[in-house]
Amino acid sequence: MESMILEVAIDTPLRQVFDYRPADGEGVPVPGTRVLVPFGRRQVIGIVVSHKERSEHSEDRLKRILRAIDPQPTLDAPLLKLLRWAADYYHHPLGEALATALPKLAREGAALLAAVEVWHLTDAGRAALAAGEPRRAPRQRAVLEALQHRTEGPERAGTTAVLGTEAVLGTEAALLDDTLPGWRDAARALRDRGWVERGTRGATRASPAAPATAVPPAPPRRPAPTAAQQAALEAICARDRDSYHAWLLHGVTGSGKTEVYLRLTEDALAAGRSVLVLVPEIGLTPQLVGRFAARFAGVPLAVLHSGLTDGARLAAWRRAHSGEARLVIGTRSAIFAPLPALGLILVDEEHDASFKQQEGGFRYSARDLALVRAQGLGIPVVLGSATPSLETLHNAATGRMTRLTLPERAAAARPPLLRLIDLRAERVHAGLATTSVTAIERHLAADGQVLVYINRRGYAPTLACTACGWVAPCASCDARMTVYRNASRLRCHHCGADRELPRQCPTCGYAVKTVGQGTERVEETLAESFPGVAIARLDRDVVRRSDQLEAVLERVAGGEARILVGTQMVTKGHDFPAVTLAVVLNADQGLFSTDFRAAERLAQTLVQVAGRSGRGAQAGEVLIQTEHPEHPLLRSLLDGGYDAFAARALEERREAAWPPFARLAALRASAPSAETTLSFLDAARRIAGRPPQGLRLLGPAPAALARRADRHHAQLLLDAADRTVLHRFLDHWLPLVETLPEARRVRWALDVDPLELF
Ligand code: ADP
Ligand code: ZN
Ligand code: ZN
Repeated sequence: MESMILEVAIDTPLRQVFDYRPADGEGVPVPGTRVLVPFGRRQVIGIVVSHKERSEHSEDRLKRILRAIDPQPTLDAPLLKLLRWAADYYHHPLGEALATALPKLAREGAALLAAVEVWHLTDAGRAALAAGEPRRAPRQRAVLEALQHRTEGPERAGTTAVLGTEAVLGTEAALLDDTLPGWRDAARALRDRGWVERGTRGATRASPAAPATAVPPAPPRRPAPTAAQQAALEAICARDRDSYHAWLLHGVTGSGKTEVYLRLTEDALAAGRSVLVLVPEIGLTPQLVGRFAARFAGVPLAVLHSGLTDGARLAAWRRAHSGEARLVIGTRSAIFAPLPALGLILVDEEHDASFKQQEGGFRYSARDLALVRAQGLGIPVVLGSATPSLETLHNAATGRMTRLTLPERAAAARPPLLRLIDLRAERVHAGLATTSVTAIERHLAADGQVLVYINRRGYAPTLACTACGWVAPCASCDARMTVYRNASRLRCHHCGADRELPRQCPTCGYAVKTVGQGTERVEETLAESFPGVAIARLDRDVVRRSDQLEAVLERVAGGEARILVGTQMVTKGHDFPAVTLAVVLNADQGLFSTDFRAAERLAQTLVQVAGRSGRGAQAGEVLIQTEHPEHPLLRSLLDGGYDAFAARALEERREAAWPPFARLAALRASAPSAETTLSFLDAARRIAGRPPQGLRLLGPAPAALARRADRHHAQLLLDAADRTVLHRFLDHWLPLVETLPEARRVRWALDVDPLELF
């Protein structure tokens, strides 16, 4: 033991771990433990990643760690292994990869365990609730009900016996944060009336080995599975719970995938395991969380997403780490959530691009890592989608995954009717064809709701001069500025530049006009055409926080708004049963792109938009406006549905040797000048020498939008026949790239399995 050396990962861009000796007279911290170490002139927090017998460095010169931050590891062995795998696969420094897995406050040394804020009903509160109070404060009532639900739910039976008093039980504030936005004011008012009390309770760490005590009982109300749901559940449950298997759950929107997730979750929880649910950034609506929370009323739940404050994120992470939260629902980075007894991973809308980190240094795919994590743990993983990615369909076709299909809509709704509208043969006003306007009229008259999809926010994408041909450019980007007429501003969607809307052309003084349309303008046009009809808009300008999203969704779901105009945001899993018509204003953007994934994205969007229509009892109608009604992609989609499209698109990928029939990585760089960017990429290419058999280097090529925020962007693309060739090459090449003098003058990053090529 005398010569025990600890390898410690530290959050630096250096591709190495650092050797330390254990602290004097203390035990040796196991891998995964946070430790305080001297590092240069500073003291930093690192993570022990392994032990070894001896160091390549002279041992008496090795420093000792100062102390372990906690007595137990922060990352358990399987999670540490996952992160090491990911750092390796994405060729990213381990220290930075590990840092990604921890909330900021945990990286900075916050304790693993904390006292937890809880609220509970008093006897007076219970009596008031029973008496139907408070009558005129619905939010206060909702808080009382939530507290009653929790404390008197099934959990109570198991736990009160042990703890003796209900006072230590209660509902965690963090849970209320997740499920009842704005609950705190109501809770304060209730406390003033003596109906609720606030307390704290120490978090305890459940032993991963021992199944949790509180087995959730069968939830009160759940629908009997449909035949297809039943078949899917039987297939999954027929396998050993303790062995890896990957499933694709392919079901159209409304076919009942979420119901399958809920059943599988119920099973895993009953077996004493915990469950991780990954959802796309925008899909994480209180609706979905609410559905899980309602179904598993007694089960502590943690929600992890990018909108949390540092404190809330730490709190949620702690509840996962302690084993207390048995159910974790989160976006991309939740793939690294610590869950001691993880027994099932669910990835909803697996095709969604937000699962891939596309910025910064560590560009991982949470969807792909879900498979790796499940494999490492020997547990099942389910990827669900109405429009699976071509990669996943290929995996299913080649046997790496088993595909399960939910062909019909669960609640007996009929599939929507899709129709193309030829824009060349129609009168079009402000982007809306006459046929679309007539159809909207018809559906409104029949008490339906209408969804209008346009993939552009703002009023209009261009401001142009009526005389000299000037268009408003962004000074910092190769892009036009978007017109915001209500705010009377011009804004750049690429760099955020924002300035006053000019009234005249700055070069010739003539009048300016807007060209094209965004959501704001479509909303205005519809308001003119349908006076008195309430319209809701959903795009990133309207919705900056999740409670704003919830407010818009409520206006639509509650029937107050009859027309919903929106971007991509409207396509993500929200349930609007009364929408009977969906209109797609500009399908053509994806048809002729240079990006090989554009067609796939368009098809997914069209199918997802279509899925918003006719979810209730009525069949829906979907109108797709296009100038290319004969385009083979649109035809295959209309004639054969997503499966036909996917088969065709996969065949094209095979012929062109694009993923999944090849492996890509992109070396991306940016600098203030094009010369600097390109000279780095040129040097990187030169230093590669002659690439190995089966690998091509393409470029450097400037990005389609080369100048963004006053920086020039370009990339070098690596195109390999298979994964081994690619990674062997990267292992050898990246360290060389890193030492190039040109590398110091640019920002660069490697993107393995890039989603977007520019
Ligand atoms: P998806 O996740 O595939 O969009 P959901 O699980 O949300 O589908 O189901 C769509 C609708 O059908 C929901 O309102 C849900 O409550 C209902 N539903 C799902 N499964 C069943 C079932 N077996 N019986 C009756 N209704 C169901
Ligand atoms: Zn002009
Ligand atoms: Zn700009």
